[in-house]
Amino acid sequence: MPDADNKFNDIRQNLAEVREKIADAALKSGRKPEEIKLMAVSKTIESKYINFAISEGIDLIGENKVQEFLAKEPELNLQNCKAHLIGHLQSNKVRKIVGKVDVIQSVDSVSLATEIAKRSRENGIVSKILLEVNVGNEESKFGFDLNEINERVFEISEIDDISIQGLMCVAPICDDEKVLRHIFSNMYRSYLDIASKKINNVNMNVLSMGMSGDYCQAILEGANLVRVGSAIFGSRNYR
Ligand SMILES: *Cc1c(COP(=O)(O)O)cnc(C)c1O
Repeated sequence: MPDADNKFNDIRQNLAEVREKIADAALKSGRKPEEIKLMAVSKTIESKYINFAISEGIDLIGENKVQEFLAKEPELNLQNCKAHLIGHLQSNKVRKIVGKVDVIQSVDSVSLATEIAKRSRENGIVSKILLEVNVGNEESKFGFDLNEINERVFEISEIDDISIQGLMCVAPICDDEKVLRHIFSNMYRSYLDIASKKINNVNMNVLSMGMSGDYCQAILEGANLVRVGSAIFGSRNYR
């Protein structure tokens, strides 16, 4: 295929590399490569590149912004590819996104969960959500504290028309491998702990952690969904 745009080739190679590293880390953690779901994070990326990744087998994309996703959605080949919202969601945008994505991963307050439930009810659907945890206790980040997550899971599990499917986090930037793995392992313990409680309306199916810089460490500590952007599409241009 003549290809004037090298970026397509780069994406193909990047995908092969990421998949290989995921498989390695999965095996090291005692799991099969196919037990780890790869999400291609497509924020700021043009639709033609996203569609190329989909044609190369990507079946899950993640977008951060409601507006951006809705603008690109008509151009995307999403027949065999699901989309998740992974960025902070403001209450006033909930109405626009409910029913448009398979999972909202970034639920970071009880009031947001309540609003998602309200809009889901209006649409006659049940929305799948993940609860975002601020694992590093960073002021700049969204999410529940790890020490309150159990309580919040119980509280949100009582709300109809939404269904908790797991946890997600964005780890702090950290060069210390030990510290990073400790953070991911805290998440994994919390995930298992919640699962063991067998709470009504709560399924701990998804542990979404790990990005381009740390997805191998996240898998080694139990992640089963990694959200990889720049390692697939190259560095982002924010306009
Ligand atoms: C941008 C983003 C990612 C992907 O980041 P990369 O470092 O490019 O892999 C993953 N998760 C969230 C929530 C993001 O905002």
